[in-house]
Amino acid sequence: MGEFELIERIKAQFKVPEGITGIGDDCAVIPQKEGFETLFTTDLLIDGVHFILGKAAPFDLGWKSAAVNISDIAAMGGRPVGAFLSIALPQGLDSSWTDRFIEGFAALSEKFGCPLLGGDTSASKVGLCINVGVIGECKAGCSKKRNMAEPGDLVCTTGVLGDSATGLKFILDGCPAGSEMEKYLIQRHYRPLPRVEAGLVLATVTGVHAMMDISDGIGSDLRHILKASGVSAEIDVAAVPKSPQMLTVCEAEGWSTDSLAICGGEDYELLFTVAPDAFSGAESGLRKAGCECHRIGRITAGEAGQIEWLGSETDFRGFTHF
Ligand code: ADP
Ligand code: MG
Repeated sequence: MGEFELIERIKAQFKVPEGITGIGDDCAVIPQKEGFETLFTTDLLIDGVHFILGKAAPFDLGWKSAAVNISDIAAMGGRPVGAFLSIALPQGLDSSWTDRFIEGFAALSEKFGCPLLGGDTSASKVGLCINVGVIGECKAGCSKKRNMAEPGDLVCTTGVLGDSATGLKFILDGCPAGSEMEKYLIQRHYRPLPRVEAGLVLATVTGVHAMMDISDGIGSDLRHILKASGVSAEIDVAAVPKSPQMLTVCEAEGWSTDSLAICGGEDYELLFTVAPDAFSGAESGLRKAGCECHRIGRITAGEAGQIEWLGSETDFRGFTHF
């Protein structure tokens, strides 16, 4: 299949809203709404670094490529508008592989109203490389940045942490997914759901200060908020939320649930800080959006970037590439 036939097949999978020019011209054209700001984010996914081509189903890889980028828009309190996909394909990936990949990408992006509006396609001599960019929007002045945390804020997360890292341990250890719980955790790794609704809710709460999505584990991600804001934090290790599936499986395998939940990453939940008097507003807004809210610690006025892990001797760190 040639490049242009491939682009046509990709284009056919996405419904582009009225007024937007998507795939087929030199640029996408997206109308600018008055009173809104544009958000833009881009992420690389490289074979052997972010996924293992032989192990990941193409549908899941397409899903996740879209999800991790939309999650960055959610992390600012924004709404995704459109996605861009540049893909370099090594020899040997046939058209059914790309079809499944695009189906996964479309399935996730459709859920969040974020059609594919453009991209680039190339052959690769060094393995599969994927780059996704997403454009989003938020009301002017309402995005939630990393540098806004204040001493006294509560540190909170949406959802539970560590499911994805536990699923990844099964994938890497090569254990066949036996139980329903293992399958569930593997699914949580391959099919993350970005917290777009939760982010939009939190963007409307005045006392919500700093926010980001959890891609590398709070052991790493919280430090980004702390450094950007010039503050420190204490985290109650026992309060870090975990799913019953993760707790059961880790107990059977003898794995440390705290390390997986704090250092594991790829949960794509939201981590945010909120003034104590705004907590109940944030919590009830999230509950209405069908999302859990957990308070796990507080921001302190110590050395920037320091975390005190209450109830544990471990100095937890998250994932880093280098
Ligand atoms: P250009 O000469 O600008 O690189 P291309 O022939 O590469 O144009 O692309 C033609 C159209 O197809 C453009 O609108 C581009 O955004 C889109 N496109 C190319 N590759 C992809 C892809 N992998 N996913 C989505 N859109 C793509
Ligand atoms: Mg091109």
